[in-house]
Amino acid sequence: DASMYLRVRLARLGTRFVLLLAEDRTETHRLDEVRRDFVANISHELKTPIASVSLLAEALDQAADEPEQVRRFANRLTTESGRLARITQEIIELSRLQAQDALATPRLVSVDAVVAAAVDQNRVVAESHDVTIVVGRRSRVEVYGDETLLVVAVHNLIANAVHYSSAGSHVGVGVKHFDGIVEIAVTDQGLGIPEEDIDRVFERFFRVDQARSRHTGGTGLGLSIVKHAVQNHGGDIRVWSQPGHGSTFTIRLPEAVQNVAGTHNAVEAN
Ligand code: ADP
Repeated sequence: DASMYLRVRLARLGTRFVLLLAEDRTETHRLDEVRRDFVANISHELKTPIASVSLLAEALDQAADEPEQVRRFANRLTTESGRLARITQEIIELSRLQAQDALATPRLVSVDAVVAAAVDQNRVVAESHDVTIVVGRRSRVEVYGDETLLVVAVHNLIANAVHYSSAGSHVGVGVKHFDGIVEIAVTDQGLGIPEEDIDRVFERFFRVDQARSRHTGGTGLGLSIVKHAVQNHGGDIRVWSQPGHGSTFTIRLPEAVQNVAGTHNAVEAN
């Protein structure tokens, strides 16, 4: 009868509500854990360079009469404080990206301009590593987004490709577009990433080889920044890698749609 039916419905709703609450608590709990890990990781990452800076300052003070030593300690101080500055900068950038789901004011951005700027920023380091950056043909394609953020994303991928490559090798940067999707791919012929680590490279502070990465000045934040920047643009990032042969990181973004018929053609005709 009706009251029985109602009671069953209410009981079911009640169960569902309790389940929802439970799920919500699990999610809150998970987020709390993520936050705690993040803070723990940050403290860990900052402690080492801070300790180095204070030790080096002390050593510098005691070595005052030995110019050679003074120069050595001063150089290391510059390196360690530079590292501190970089970590702080990246943490701020990542927090900002994580705080927003989507961009506030997306603008029309030329993908060729993004690639050109990101490649330019890596030229000097690439030359010093004897790595050649090869850029594919112009795509003339556009996306909606934040140009600065997209440059940071592509820059980080190219910087990694250069860092984890050996002298004499090539890094390729290419743009493709099809079915309303724009693909920016960065390919290297470097060390590659072991299969067991490949799912973790986008995690904050994750490094395949701690010693190697620290040597190259890595923070383990570069790829998380790329991932969040791309996600804020409604896109995604994938990686393919073969240890010993190289890696390809591919960013996929929605292509900007032209609203006014013919606008695109008119622009191209000019
Ligand atoms: P890092 O600042 O240490 O480079 P990232 O977040 O940019 O941090 O990358 C995480 C880790 O993924 C790196 O430490 C490195 O081990 C690995 N990695 C990233 N890009 C490449 C690449 N192109 N080739 C080989 N390994 C890479």
